[in-house]
This record gives sequence, structure tokens and C-alpha cells, in this order.
Amino acid sequence: MKAKPKIVIVGGGFGGLWAAKALANKPVEVTLIDRKNHHVFQPLLYQVATAVLSPGEIAQPIRRILAKAKNIEVILGEVTGFDKENSNAILADGSPVDYDYLVIAAGARHAYFGHDEWEQCAPGLKTIEDAVEIRRRVLLAFEQAEREAYLTGVQKQLNFVVVGGGPTGVELAGAIADIARQALAKDFKVIDTRKTKVMLFEGSDRVLGTFAEELSISAKKQLEQIGVDVRLNSFVTEIEPGRVKVADEWIDCDVVLWATGVAASPLGKALGVETDKAGRVVVAKDLSLNGFPNVFIIGDMASLMQESGEPVPGVSPAAMQMGTATANNILNDLKDKPRENFTYWDKGTMATIGRSKAIAEAAGMKFKGFVAWLMWLFLHVFFLIGFRNRLAVMFSWFWAYLTRERSARLITGDADEMRDAMKFLEARSKNSSKKKNQTPPRRGGGGRPPPLSGGGGGGNLNFFFFATYRQYDQ
Ligand SMILES: Cc1cc2nc3c(=O)[nH]c(=O)nc-3n(C[C@H](O)[C@H](O)[C@H](O)COP(=O)(O)OP(=O)(O)OC[C@H]3O[C@@H](n4cnc5c(N)ncnc54)[C@H](O)[C@@H]3O)c2cc1C
Repeated sequence: MKAKPKIVIVGGGFGGLWAAKALANKPVEVTLIDRKNHHVFQPLLYQVATAVLSPGEIAQPIRRILAKAKNIEVILGEVTGFDKENSNAILADGSPVDYDYLVIAAGARHAYFGHDEWEQCAPGLKTIEDAVEIRRRVLLAFEQAEREAYLTGVQKQLNFVVVGGGPTGVELAGAIADIARQALAKDFKVIDTRKTKVMLFEGSDRVLGTFAEELSISAKKQLEQIGVDVRLNSFVTEIEPGRVKVADEWIDCDVVLWATGVAASPLGKALGVETDKAGRVVVAKDLSLNGFPNVFIIGDMASLMQESGEPVPGVSPAAMQMGTATANNILNDLKDKPRENFTYWDKGTMATIGRSKAIAEAAGMKFKGFVAWLMWLFLHVFFLIGFRNRLAVMFSWFWAYLTRERSARLITGDADEMRDAMKFLEARSKNSSKKKNQTPPRRGGGGRPPPLSGGGGGGNLNFFFFATYRQYDQ
């Protein structure tokens, strides 16, 4: 081994970044490779997806975060495979990057249970790009309904479907219900956004199933208080543009969001070693790869049983602790000290449900409602990367809380997409030329909200999103 061993870290998420931080300015050479130039604070992605925060408030350039670590180089690139025998990580263009130690922390994505084609209709939330796309679909659904009601005099029923009652599904459903009832209600002049229906489908008999039953029940009640229609024991079996099938029933919807299923990064399988059903690599107690003590797998990619018989959960504290533990074990090797087995320290869990609503479990105690929400808020701000972000997020939240305003309500997309939207509308209005010349109803300006026409236009509206999403992808 060279005088300064070379450590390659794949992934600058919670696991990789914490490993890098623990190796900063130590007698090693570190190369961190990530396919994005930024670290994302994923627990707040749903706030970008629902227009409370801007992407820049929850993401920071990895290079910036590690700027003061003289021994760490950050490389923008995608790792596609490994040559373990020759100790190389392979980049997408085939370039090898040699290592003495390799730490793989490439995370996970959502799994569509063998129906990858559903992703077009029902995006999941994992990256900044996902959050911006979801924000676009949600905001466009309201814009489109307003324009349609303005042109035809008929307000269609807006339906949003969230699939999966875990933390992300609950957060998304609660936040969309909040926007519809509050932030958007005063800005839309024709439609009554408060009539928007948000449905949450969960296959098991409770939402937030990893929490104590009492808290799950409370979470369901809190969701219902803000108008979310929670359907338990409900499996979504098919998804098409404009509708989802639950058991034998087809339900029209304008936006479908996917918040269930986990698939570890395919880099686990690329190692050619044992993985569990979700593609996580089964690791030794020190998080190394069996038979390759200089290769470590950490974070959402690692499968490790705790002494309690429970697996280490795929959450950010576990990934951060694994990152630090791995760095310490590498440094132990260099000092000829024995490695330590990884032990996960569970500091508690929490999930937010909407404005002032949350549940939390910590130190054997259970919290619900406003107190849990305050705990959630301060913890999340505390852990945000970068001081500027903390201040900016604190200010945005405080402002959103006081005014019920959503400051990041931008719809992104280029002019072509908007032109296509107009073409779609023109076609619709030609088809309904009789209705076209009706005086547009106006909400609030003395008139009552126009009558709801049922879910008739749902399929078309969703087709529009489907089509533009495809175009966006190309
Ligand atoms: C929407 C959402 C909300 C969440 N909320 C919470 C929460 O409230 N509390 C909580 O504790 N946990 C939460 N989690 C889970 C938590 O974010 C993860 O457990 C944690 O991010 C795992 O860290 P990681 O380092 O394993 O992976 P990640 O943080 O996902 O990082 C993986 C990194 O690897 C990079 N990468 C991937 N593939 C490659 C490749 N081939 N080449 C180069 N780079 C690559 C990615 O760009 C990324 O930067 C949430 C997750 C999501 C998606």
C-alpha cells in the first residue's frame, strides 16, 4: 500500500458524505465520485415537491461542503461497475479509478414491483429532478383545471392519488391537501381548490406502519382532519394515464404519485455478490464485503441484521453512522488497531403530516400533533447542510407558516411544453365549441363556485401530463 492509502467513495449522499467528513484532513487520499454535483437533504424533498422550499434550499454542491478538506477530491461521474480483483471502480466512459479502500454508498430508488412502466404515470420522489417534476404536475393540474373551467364554465373534480402510506406518502398527501385548502384557495378565481380530493392508498392495515400502532392511528386521524381520504388494505394493481385500479375499481385521477417500494442501487448487483430481495448487499458486521475487507457497502445499499433481529433501517441517521463507522475502521486499519462492529444508535423517528401535524417516537416516548411537528421542524433544520441553508429554510418555513403562502410555486418546463399544452386545450375547446363562449364563472367576485361536473375530464387531463412528461424525458 502507498504511503497515503487511496480511498474511493461512491456517492455523496448521507453515507458517503459522512464517511468523507470523517476522513477529512486525515493521512489518506480520498476521491468522492457522485453522478450529481450536489448533496440532497432527502427528508425535505417533499417540501420542494409541494412548493414550500426551492431546490437550492435543500441541496448543496458536494465540492463546496468538502472545500476545506485538502485531501479530498470530488469527481462528477457515474460509476457503472467494479473490477474487484484489480481494485478499480469503473466510470460510465470505461475509465478505471483505482483504490486501496472502496466505500460504496449509492443509495436506493423506488421499486415498481415489476411494473417499471408505471413510473411515467406515477413518478416517485428521490432526487431534486423528481421533486421539481412532481411540483410541476401538481401545480399544472390546478392551472389546467382553472383554464378549463374558465373556457367551459364547468369545474372538473380534481383528484390526486398517492400510492403508499409510509413517511413520504403521508407527507406528500398531507402537503397537497394543505396547498389545496389554503395556499392556492385564495389565488384561483374560477375553481374552488378546496374541493380537490387527495386519496392515499396503503396496502397494509395502517399508515406509517413502522411506528407504534397508537401513532399510526393518530396519523390517519390527522390526515383525515385535513381532508385526505385514507384507504387502508388497498392495493393499486394497475396504473394508466388518468386512472388507477384499486382491487376491481378504476379511479380517475389527475396526478398519481408513487411512494412505496425500495430498490437498492444496481451497483450492489454489479458487485456480483449476495443481495437481499430489495437488491441490498449483505455485509459483514464491520460493513465490509465478505471476502473483500477493503470494500465497504453502507447506507441504503447495505443489508445488516442488528442483534435485536431487526434489520438496520434505511434512514439517514443509519447511513450517516455507517459512514462515520467505516471511516473510523479504515483509520483503525492504518493504525493496526482492530475494527469495530457497526451498531446502529436509534435516536427516534418522526413523520410530518401537514401544517402543525406530525407524530414522533423518541427515548421511549410518543408525541403527536403540534409538539411532534415542532420537534420535527427543529431537528430537520438542525441537520440541514450548510448554515446559509438553515437560515433560508427557517425563514421560508416561518413565512409559509404565518401567511400560509407557498413561495416556490414555479412551474418549470420549456416554452414548447407550454405550447403543447395550449394545443391540447385548443383541441378540447373546439370539441366543446358550444360551451366555449359561456361567460366564465368567477369565484369570490360575487358568484358561487361553479358546480362540479364529476371526474369526466380526468383522463384527458392526465394524458396531457403523461405526454409532456414523455417529451421532457427525451
Ligand atoms: C423522499 C424521501 C424522504 C426521506 N425522509 C427521511 C426522513 O424523514 N428521515 C430519515 O431518516 N430518512 C429519510 N429518508 C431516507 C434517507 O434519505 C436515506 O436513508 C439516506 O439518504 C440514505 O443515504 P445513502 O448515502 O445510502 O444514499 P443517498 O443519500 O441516496 O445518496 C446516494 C448518492 O449516490 C449517488 N449515486 C447513486 N448512484 C451512483 C452512481 N452509479 N455513480 C455515482 N454516484 C451515484 C447519488 O447521486 C447520491 O448522491 C428519505 C428518503 C426519501 C427519498
